[in-house]
Amino acid sequence: MPRLTSSAFRDLAIWMIGLGLMIGFIFPPFTLVLGLPASSVLTVPFFVACLTAGLMVGGINYALARFVVGSRVRQLAARMEKVRTALQTATYSGDWSTCTPEQCLIDVDSTDEFGDSASSFNELVLALSSSNQVEEHVRALSATLSAHLELGATSQHALRHLMELTGVSAGALLIESDGTFSVAASVAVDHPERLTLASPILESLRSDAVVRLEAPADIAIDAAVALFPARSVLVVPLAFKSVPVGVLVLAHTSVIETDSERLVRLVRPILSVALNNALAHERIQRLATIDGLTGTYNRRFGLTRLREEYKRAIRAEMPLSVAMFDIDHFKAVNDTYGHVVGDRVLTAVAGAARRILREGDVLIRYGGEEFMILLVGASAEDGATISERLRRSVAETIVIDGDQKVGVTVSIGIAAMPGDDIDSEQDLIEQADAALYAAKDRGRDRVVVA
Ligand code: GH3
Ligand code: MG
Ligand code: MG
Repeated sequence: MPRLTSSAFRDLAIWMIGLGLMIGFIFPPFTLVLGLPASSVLTVPFFVACLTAGLMVGGINYALARFVVGSRVRQLAARMEKVRTALQTATYSGDWSTCTPEQCLIDVDSTDEFGDSASSFNELVLALSSSNQVEEHVRALSATLSAHLELGATSQHALRHLMELTGVSAGALLIESDGTFSVAASVAVDHPERLTLASPILESLRSDAVVRLEAPADIAIDAAVALFPARSVLVVPLAFKSVPVGVLVLAHTSVIETDSERLVRLVRPILSVALNNALAHERIQRLATIDGLTGTYNRRFGLTRLREEYKRAIRAEMPLSVAMFDIDHFKAVNDTYGHVVGDRVLTAVAGAARRILREGDVLIRYGGEEFMILLVGASAEDGATISERLRRSVAETIVIDGDQKVGVTVSIGIAAMPGDDIDSEQDLIEQADAALYAAKDRGRDRVVVA
């Protein structure tokens, strides 16, 4: 149909009224065929009457069409406007609440083109709403992931968040770092460490492909995965720049929904990046605080910890002891057995010290073959007892080099607070160091309290 004006309804009016006028004009000659006398029908009044009737029928038709069709089109336009406003709000706030089904959907009450349009429109609105929900989930997960930097916290929060989003009953997050594959977080999984040996998980990590296991085919695997007999398990490998960083395992008592799986696949890249960042953060933290040879804290970190522990001890009115120890005649060990054996002796001495310390005590490589220990909550007397244990433990430690047994002793100096002339953490170090020199002077392999 050719367009006559810029308005479809105006076009309709022209067509309907034009048709009415045309029928009004044709009608008088037509009546001649029916046998009416020409003197009655081919008159001006009869023509005027027929044209008026045609005009009225055209006009009424137009009004009816405008009323019936127009109201539906107007409703569709109003709903579209409503959805547009809601979408605009939701894009930035994620709040889709202004678009409830009553507000945004259209009643489908006819089986014609209007019914079809209404159905299509409703489907479009529902698709928009669900896409907005997914966007909101991704946004919330990103917020959770960016709120944490430590590997433990990142893993815990990510796992809990994903379990909530997918509605599954159990899950675990396994991390691959420096060649070790371990559990970083788990919820409701019996013996999660067993997952690191499960072949579907190792295979998924190796191939970087998502694996879905459904009961009853894999009942044996399900039983190993969760505390309960899971019906469905989803194994999602995580990788950053093609390097594996871990595996997410989700298990459920019934089938995991396809939409949940799609969501997990969608967030896989951001989860991978977040875990990679957490791993990198951990490595940097390690480099900044840990001595590479002995695995003890390094001097810089140790001095910071000493400052903190000193302030805490004053605040809590608790004792704090500092033990400084140095390997006796270590130069001779290097000279006799070489530096490689010397390094092994240093590591063995650090290991012996670590074994006798309590949780909360801090072992620091102060420099060369000299170590410092912060004995939190220990008085001078406690410090002396622990140091004596340390001295004996080191004396019993042997490093084997071929058919030679290499053993060393240590001299230990202790200072404690509260104590005479201790007004700062520096005083603790100086007094412990002076006590260590006294131990060396008195013949080595002994403990001296400042
Ligand atoms: P003293 O009983 O008086 O402490 O004698 P000493 O020989 O232990 O003391 P000295 O300060 O003369 O020598 C310390 C030696 O420790 C010298 C240095 O080469 C060695 N040393 C320091 N750091 C390392 C290390 O990381 N590895 C090895 N193999 N040796 C180290
Ligand atoms: Mg020495
Ligand atoms: Mg020394």
